[in-house]
Amino acid sequence: MRRLHRIPLAEPTEKYLAKRQKEVNAKKQAGTLEVEKEWSSSRKTQKMKDVVQVLRKMMGLRERCVYCLDSHGADIEHFWPKAPFPEKMFRWRNLLLCCTECGRMKSDQFPLEGGRPLLIDPSVEDPWLYLDFDPVTGNLTARFDAVSNAFSPKGERTVDILQLDRREALAAGYLKTWKRLGSLIRDYLPTRSQTPQQLAKNLIEEDEHGLLGWCFDGSGQNEPPFRELREQTPETWKICAGAARCPQNEPVSVRQ
Ligand SMILES: [Zn+2]
Repeated sequence: MRRLHRIPLAEPTEKYLAKRQKEVNAKKQAGTLEVEKEWSSSRKTQKMKDVVQVLRKMMGLRERCVYCLDSHGADIEHFWPKAPFPEKMFRWRNLLLCCTECGRMKSDQFPLEGGRPLLIDPSVEDPWLYLDFDPVTGNLTARFDAVSNAFSPKGERTVDILQLDRREALAAGYLKTWKRLGSLIRDYLPTRSQTPQQLAKNLIEEDEHGLLGWCFDGSGQNEPPFRELREQTPETWKICAGAARCPQNEPVSVRQ
């Protein structure tokens, strides 16, 4: 997963969503709301196609799923599911792009704690605050917090609902990215023939799964070869970490 930044909609699209939401709210009030019918009638409109375009742009050139970053982002995802929460059905901040598999697993599951979601929304928070990566298996797991001496509840529920610790193809994808990132560092360290900026650019280009967040800010900073990079070349580390944290850090190359 990777922290994403929401792109504002064009004003007419924004107005369209507001109008549809108002209609939904009125129908809900009157007891005549049919959630699926309401949604499918809007999905065919040009304005909703515009919404999908913006979501695709948000997900970068590969248009990947917001949750797994591994499969194609196939359809609009309601972070707060539309059936139990129709009051958020047309709210722009509630719309994401996700793959068929993640969509099927999440479905209407939406755990709350004190009214707040126990599920990571990468468009509002850094997923690596709640997640850890296992460089041996390629699985994503909940992050352990040494202060509270417990695993992150939000991380645990996210991993459980999206089955991020038991999807073979997903783990293979994450491992591939981890190995590519590691190779770049291993090639760099003995010669240092690239500039730190060039190394940062190459890392970002290869980071298909948002792992740099884990490598620079999560426990990945203690894993070789990132640990060596941090200890041996603190200046390069700083430049690469800064570049990886910048909002425009989506990979730019397209790999199929
Ligand atoms: Zn997915």
